[in-house]
Amino acid sequence: MKNRSVLISGAGIGGPTLAYWLHRYGFDVTVVERAPAPRTGGHAVDIRGTAREVAERAGIVPAVRAAHTGARGMAFVDERNRRVATLGIDVFGDSGGPVAELAILRTDLARILHEASRDDVEYIFGDSVVAAEQNDVGIQVRFESGTARRFDLLVGADGVRSTVRRLVFGPDERYLRDLGCYVSLFSTTTTLPHDGWQLMYTMPAGGGRPGRTAGIYPRTAPGTALAAFFLRSAPLRYDRGDVDEQKRIVTRAFEGDGWEIPRLLSTIDDASDFYFDRVVQVEVDGWSRGRTVLLGDAAYCASPMSGIGTSLALVGAYVLAGELAAADGDHTRAYPAYARQMREFVDRAQEFARTSGDNGLMPDSRAQIRMRNLAVRVLPFLPRALVGRGMERVANTVELKDYAALAHR
Ligand SMILES: Cc1cc2nc3c(=O)[nH]c(=O)nc-3n(C[C@H](O)[C@H](O)[C@H](O)COP(=O)(O)OP(=O)(O)OC[C@H]3O[C@@H](n4cnc5c(N)ncnc54)[C@H](O)[C@@H]3O)c2cc1C
Repeated sequence: MKNRSVLISGAGIGGPTLAYWLHRYGFDVTVVERAPAPRTGGHAVDIRGTAREVAERAGIVPAVRAAHTGARGMAFVDERNRRVATLGIDVFGDSGGPVAELAILRTDLARILHEASRDDVEYIFGDSVVAAEQNDVGIQVRFESGTARRFDLLVGADGVRSTVRRLVFGPDERYLRDLGCYVSLFSTTTTLPHDGWQLMYTMPAGGGRPGRTAGIYPRTAPGTALAAFFLRSAPLRYDRGDVDEQKRIVTRAFEGDGWEIPRLLSTIDDASDFYFDRVVQVEVDGWSRGRTVLLGDAAYCASPMSGIGTSLALVGAYVLAGELAAADGDHTRAYPAYARQMREFVDRAQEFARTSGDNGLMPDSRAQIRMRNLAVRVLPFLPRALVGRGMERVANTVELKDYAALAHR
């Protein structure tokens, strides 16, 4: 084999999936993850369309089902928590709706993928690549811990603000497309009924404030939930390392709003998993430079609100591993073949994310909220052929090749 040793930066979804398949094809794989240990909690993700087949082929579907979030759908509520429009997961088939049939916490999926590969792959937690120099024969990598090592290939599967992309491709600003809003999430508690419905409360723009939505996503343990806040806004200036400042931004944006919002905000200071970020797409012209290649959100994030990012990462990892195996490790053939297979899926997913916009979560007027609720109420009565097919078609863009004959075990 031409290039046997592969360093993957990032143990989210794409990284461990790639590690799993590369090992099966006989590569020596190391994964470096900045977090000190596998994470817990966080948001739910969806496995849709072709990505379901990737999960099947990796044999992880029973574990994914066992860790199902229990989500049954999304309900838009009014100030008094009455459900004014609901979207059950059964309305859209397994892959078409806002919540897919295979819905799982991102951290649970990462854990399952890590467990499927950790006996055969070297995992380094609590470290990061800080320098990478590539030449004709390999890549010399330096880690934050001070160690230096040489690998044949380097994969950046380290998320929207990928370090590998910054080191090898250039600064973030070149690759991030702004979608005009912020998302915040954090763990909270709830006294609302524990029935698997994600509750969303939307307020229109007005009084100098933008359109915005707060949500409560139930967790599997009764009484626990994830609080979600969506806010249209021009880019704000704040310190990305200052979590308290970001909590104040969210609190100010939703201060004085009704429904469960005061109670959710009263728990924000206790949240150790607080997340706040600008919603962006990643657009990189060509996902490889020499021996380095990008995967998942680092290469082609569609938007955290699109519901397709996890499927892109799973399918991308399967295809990249398969093409490296098929090319016997020759990255000059494998990377373009990976790009050829993924390009249409990525383009369609990103276009879908842009055109479906914020899904009515940040409207300008009450009339828009009423229209959205009306549209949601009508959906179950429309023929299946018309409903949810956009997302389902996007999720099934790639027809998976069968690389099974290349596996060493
Ligand atoms: C708020 C939010 C909500 C979302 N909701 C959904 C949803 O409903 N459905 C859906 O399908 N998708 C959703 N997504 C998107 C989904 O989480 C991503 O598309 C998916 O996780 C991409 O996988 P990935 O492996 O490319 O990146 P990630 O899962 O982001 O993994 C990247 C990993 O790299 C690590 N890392 C970062 N920097 C370094 C470094 N320097 N060195 C080493 N490791 C590093 C990170 O710690 C992380 O573990 C959401 C995302 C967000 C942020």
